[in-house]
Amino acid sequence: IANWKSNKTIKETEEWLHSFSDGVKRKGVNVEGKTVIVAPSFTSLEHAHYCLGNLKLSLKFAAQDISPFDEGAHTGEVNGRQIKELADYVIVGHSERRKNFGEDEEMVNQKIEHSLKQELTPIVCVSILEQTQKSKLKSQNYNSKLKSYENKVVIAYEPLFAIGSGKPDTPENANEFAKSIKNELGEIPVLYGGSVKSDNVKSFTSMPHIGGVLVGGASLDPLEFLKIIKNA
Ligand code: PEP
Repeated sequence: IANWKSNKTIKETEEWLHSFSDGVKRKGVNVEGKTVIVAPSFTSLEHAHYCLGNLKLSLKFAAQDISPFDEGAHTGEVNGRQIKELADYVIVGHSERRKNFGEDEEMVNQKIEHSLKQELTPIVCVSILEQTQKSKLKSQNYNSKLKSYENKVVIAYEPLFAIGSGKPDTPENANEFAKSIKNELGEIPVLYGGSVKSDNVKSFTSMPHIGGVLVGGASLDPLEFLKIIKNA
């Protein structure tokens, strides 16, 4: 998953997609066997979706956030029904949102519920295990409809010290963490995120409990992201 955060204009998004597509063709990278997801800003999401039709790439899109409310009088929010037209996934509970926008477990749970209601797959970011323990996914009063979506949730383990620092967690530690998450929540995909690059990605994806990676900084360069996919 490429998390572009607050980067790239519409024009830069188009350039990234064209370079990525050229790279796929020139380097003969087989993207087919892997799920490749790009999370642009809301302003770029519609154009990215449009470009994909012409480029015939097998990419999926994620929104970087979702409103905790249904549509209505919530200025500045983008709701699940709007996202559903453009993306299949939503990043929920990223540590930057928890830290900078005061998102707590209750809000993260509301966002998970709104994603599931629209059949969007939430990619729930956690940096400590308690965040999964307080998750709606575990809650007793979880209604039966949502329960049936449980295996459609993806967890991304992102330790705070590793994000944007150039100092990733060890693959062994990340694998242990992923194993604990699966003990809590069942056999769902658990990704690792935090300073992943093309030269360290394999050390994580070769671990038995790690099902993929969430990439921030290194995903801004389309050819580096392509290398990450190739090496994963
Ligand atoms: C992230 O913030 O989701 C992330 C993984 O960032 P980076 O790859 O830049 O550490």
